[in-house]
This record gives sequence, structure tokens and C-alpha cells, in this order.
Amino acid sequence: GSVFAHLVQAPEDPILGVTVAYNKDPSPVKLNLGVGAYRTEEGKPLVLNVVRKAEQQLINDRTRIKEYLPIVGLVEFNKLSAKLILGADSPAIRENRVSTVECLSGTGSLRVGGEFLAKHYHQKTIYITQPTWGNHPKIFTLAGLTVKTYRYYDPSTRGLNFQGLMEDLGAATPGSIVLLHACAHNPTGVDPTIQQWEQIRQLMRSKGLMPFFDSAYQGFASGSLDTDAKPIRMFVADGGECLVAQSYAKNMGLYGERVGALSIVCKSSDVAGKVESQLKLVIRPMYSSPPIHGASIVAVILRDRNLFNEWTLELKAMADRIISMRKQLFEALRARGTPGDWSHIIKQIGMFTFTGLNPAQVSYMTKEYHIYMTSDGRISMAGLSSKTVPHLADAIHAVAT
Ligand code: PMP
Repeated sequence: GSVFAHLVQAPEDPILGVTVAYNKDPSPVKLNLGVGAYRTEEGKPLVLNVVRKAEQQLINDRTRIKEYLPIVGLVEFNKLSAKLILGADSPAIRENRVSTVECLSGTGSLRVGGEFLAKHYHQKTIYITQPTWGNHPKIFTLAGLTVKTYRYYDPSTRGLNFQGLMEDLGAATPGSIVLLHACAHNPTGVDPTIQQWEQIRQLMRSKGLMPFFDSAYQGFASGSLDTDAKPIRMFVADGGECLVAQSYAKNMGLYGERVGALSIVCKSSDVAGKVESQLKLVIRPMYSSPPIHGASIVAVILRDRNLFNEWTLELKAMADRIISMRKQLFEALRARGTPGDWSHIIKQIGMFTFTGLNPAQVSYMTKEYHIYMTSDGRISMAGLSSKTVPHLADAIHAVAT
């Protein structure tokens, strides 16, 4: 018999498993609102025009080779990524105290950052929001950190539990790591206001808590790259240290290219140099060096003023379409007289709406309406279109009545 015969069949990933179930459903009206990927009004995946142009430019360049990148990845990409998230005028960049490495999208950046902290930071506890993206606890546990949660979401208001958040961070062991969603919190779509961010910053700095920002949606939430980076820039402006994991999956539509970056903002350029040398020791035995194609696309777009401007317009168009889906769904429920307060659909930010539907309602909607979503009631607004809003509104109306 096989030496693996004792294995038990592992469950599907709770998020990616939604698509597996969706693919098996033969219904013509089926609707996949589970996965966090942008779709056009026609329900199709989108490759940005600027990405097509950048790829053409890369293909036409006959001098390009396919040698290994250095362990830290494409150096120009790293510099441009730090500028994009911290701001072109960031004092930390000017003072050369940011260490940036290219990683395998947002997930890989979080994992490398987590392993670095587990090895070199004096506190091994990381606080994550309750709830959070399902992969967070797994990433940080496997990186060697101890995961605890802090209160974040209030189901009764479908908004932020700011008091609970401040109490939990206030009670955290000094020096602990705190994971912060830079914008468009996944899965709740609920973000602190700028005034609340300022209070969070003061509390965290006074307790020496280490901020680790997860920036998976820069530009995707508000439509503005600078607005969505504001909370991070507030923490960098005070001169303190922090980590930032960036993903280009959503904002450039480069999902499968797996392109992202980890930046560690340090207090001096001397420390940043040592940090980078240790990041290389984390990366080398893990995957040796990152892929070249996705990072090259990003570098072409970020370095060219025209392509960059064109990108911001395409990004804004994606964000605007999502915001318009929120309005259409809210209006459709109002038109049906669906009982309950659904204003959170238009108040929440980013790709997802945390509907408040319970697992029984979700499973009824899947069975009777062929609408797929995660069992926590999270729906991807990016997977909706004007054509599919009425079907979703009918289903929500049916389970809410
Ligand atoms: N963080 C959050 C909060 C996310 O929602 C995602 C994507 N679902 C990621 C990180 C990382 O995604 P990727 O590895 O595809 O960049």
C-alpha cells in the first residue's frame, strides 16, 4: 500500500472552494460572488490596456534576457513600489532607510515579512482583525508567529467597533505586531476614518506596537492611489518603523503574475541595509529569487509618466464600477421593499460587501438561486453587473422576508 494511504482528504479552501462549487453548477443563471477578482460589466476578467502596452514593449525589446533576478528581485521595481506606497516625497525614501524586496504578490510579501519578524523581532505575537482574510492566520502561524485577534467589526452596526479595537490594542503586550489593512478591509469593507487612524497611530506608538500594513487594494477602494495609502503615510511620517506588504493583483489586474513587494521602513539607512541582508537569508532557501515578468510589467508602467497616468484612469474606472454596483444593489433592494437596513452596502468600501446574511441564508441562495459566496455572507461587488443585480436582489429579498 501507499505510504500516504493514511492521509485524510483535506477540505477545499473556504474561499477558492466557492469557485470549485460554482464551476460544477450547470445553471445558466449561476453567479460567482465568492472570489475577489475584478470582472467587467460583461462578467469577463480584465487585462488592463496599460498592461497590454507594457507587455508589448517588453516583447519588442530584443535586449531582454531571462537570467535569474537577484534574491531581492527587480531593483527598479522595488524602488518604484516603495515610492508608490509611501509617496514620491517620502522622507524615509529620501533618507534611504526603506528596505524593499520583490515578493510573490501580497501573500508572499506577508509570509516573508512574517518569517523575518519571527526570526529577528523581540515579540512573536501578531494581532489580526476579527474577522479577517482567511489566509492571514495561516500565513503568520506557519511563519512562526503567535496569532491573536483584536476586535474590529460590530455586527449590530455593520460598522467599525472602534472602542473594542482601542481596548484590545491598549491591552496588547507592548511591542506586539499588529496587522492593519491599509484600506478596503477584507472581508468587512469597513475602514477607520482618518481621525480614527490618527488615534490608532498614537496608541500604537505609545505602546511600541509594530505596524504591519497589508496593502492589497491601493487605488481600488477610493479610486485614488494617494488616498488609499494615507494611513500608511501617517505612520511613516512620525519617523517610526513599520512593515508594508503590497500586492499588484487587484490594482493592476496582475493576479496570476504573483507580483508584490515587502517594504520595511527603518530608523536609519544603516539598519535598512542590515534588514535587507537578513531578508535575503529568508528568501534564498524559500524560493531563491522571484519571477521577472510581472515585476517588469509594473516597472514599465510606473516609470513612464504617460502609462502611469493611463493606469490611474483605468484603476479609477474599476473602482467606480464597483461603487456603482453598490448603488444599484442598494436601490434594487429598496425598490423591492426588502425588510431591514441595507445602507451598509453603500457605506462599505472596496471590493466586498459584508452583507450580514447568515450561513443558512447563504446556503439557501446557493441552492435556490445558484448564487455563490463565502458562508460568512461576503459578496464580491466586482463580480456583479447591471444585468445580475436584479437576480441577486431577488435572492436577498427572498431570504430577508
Ligand atoms: N491581503 C488581503 C486582505 C487580500 O484580500 C488579499 C487577496 N485576496 C491578499 C492579501 C493577497 O493576495 P495576493 O497574494 O493575490 O496578492
